Amino acid sequence: MQLTNRSIQVVKKELTLSERLYFPAIIKGMLITLSHLFKRKATVKYPDQERELAAVYRGQHVLKRDEAGAERCTACGLCAVACPAEAITMESAERKKGEENLYREEKYAKIYEINMLRCIFCGLCEDACPKEAIFLTDRIVPSSFTRGEEVFGKDLLVESLTERVDVTKRQTPEVLSFKNDKKHKHNQTYLDRKK
Ligand code: SF4
Ligand code: SF4
Repeated sequence: MQLTNRSIQVVKKELTLSERLYFPAIIKGMLITLSHLFKRKATVKYPDQERELAAVYRGQHVLKRDEAGAERCTACGLCAVACPAEAITMESAERKKGEENLYREEKYAKIYEINMLRCIFCGLCEDACPKEAIFLTDRIVPSSFTRGEEVFGKDLLVESLTERVDVTKRQTPEVLSFKNDKKHKHNQTYLDRKK
């Protein structure tokens, strides 16, 4: 019984003489292989050669510090909620007196981890962050031999004080000019508040 009219009758055709000899098919295959020798290579010799990345490339995350060097993340958890891959986990702690130079807000992330094996580099964590604390960069996540090494903690994610990561190309001109307006508390560092 036919359920649809899309079924096709399979016909077992007799092989022609050239098909039975196999050589024409082998030669055809070899010619295809040879033709690839003269085509542009799809691969590059990484890491000696690096492919040019698109301007919108999203690679390894960075947890940003503010201009005065304090960590921007306030462990609100919005990035973790927005993450479709459930790659982000964190534990918050309260800032103690005298730690204003270390953490920008009264609450900070004591532990912050991203599982790079789960991450799909969608950038939703960056979009969700109200503190401009997390950004994706053009850095390629290094490969490793164990799964554990792919869980990146604060030691790998927080920006170094000496080697700052420029994320301005991921921010609109409006955001960048708003950030320079120090009359908003949001834009003040602990040094500005001391004045
Ligand atoms: S880039 Fe996407 S998948 Fe990766 S941690 Fe951020 S929200 Fe999750
Ligand atoms: S990175 Fe941003 S969204 Fe995520 S916990 Fe920190 S402040 Fe909140």
